[in-house]
Amino acid sequence: MQTDTSFQSLALSAPLLANLDSLGYTEMTPIQAASLPLILQQRDVIAQAKTGSGKTAAFSLGILAKLNPMYFAIQGLVICPTRELADQVANELRRLARAIDNVKVLTLCGGTAMRPQIVSLEHGAHIVVGTPGRLIDHISRETIKLSTVQTLVLDEADRMVDMGFYDDIVHIVNACSPRRQTLLFSATFPDDIRKASEQLMHEPAEVKVDSQH
Ligand code: ADP
Ligand code: MG
Repeated sequence: MQTDTSFQSLALSAPLLANLDSLGYTEMTPIQAASLPLILQQRDVIAQAKTGSGKTAAFSLGILAKLNPMYFAIQGLVICPTRELADQVANELRRLARAIDNVKVLTLCGGTAMRPQIVSLEHGAHIVVGTPGRLIDHISRETIKLSTVQTLVLDEADRMVDMGFYDDIVHIVNACSPRRQTLLFSATFPDDIRKASEQLMHEPAEVKVDSQH
């Protein structure tokens, strides 16, 4: 476990560090300090910490640290249980991505028309944030190509399993590159999540933060 909790101690680019500073992110939260060094070493990571502990920035920085903005293909995919959460994650990703020129973040959720999403996918994106049902829909219509995904995030994995998305998630994960890094974030770690991690992840490191401070 690392003791220096400043973002400056991480192997992040100067623009990303400067942007974190401008957002008022000076110290890492405990789950960030525990998970980011492993994430930046390209390990698969299971991170368990309660709501409000800063999990979004942890995986977002993992995506952004290795994003190549010159390569216009989906390099990061975040799967979230609900549209509200997907919108929150996309907003945080966009704030953190301001450090890098022209990063396109696209949300793909149900409850909105399919056609504009297909047009957006044709125009391209670097990062997609979506809900399981709509992602499956795009995969089956072949309107999305996930073989270029190098960072895959399962956010609020316990909620997604509770909502019955387990099989959908396996299907989406299997559409991504086998060489991807997989990050799983959850507030709890029930048996279903352990099963998912064994099936979908490669020698994951487990980090757990019990209290918020
Ligand atoms: P979680 O996903 O763990 O529930 P969030 O990622 O939504 O939590 O983070 C909660 C809040 O904390 C957000 O408003 C976010 O902007 C803020 N935050 C995250 N990391 C830091 C940090 N290192 N310093 C200050 N604020 C932070
Ligand atoms: Mg969260």
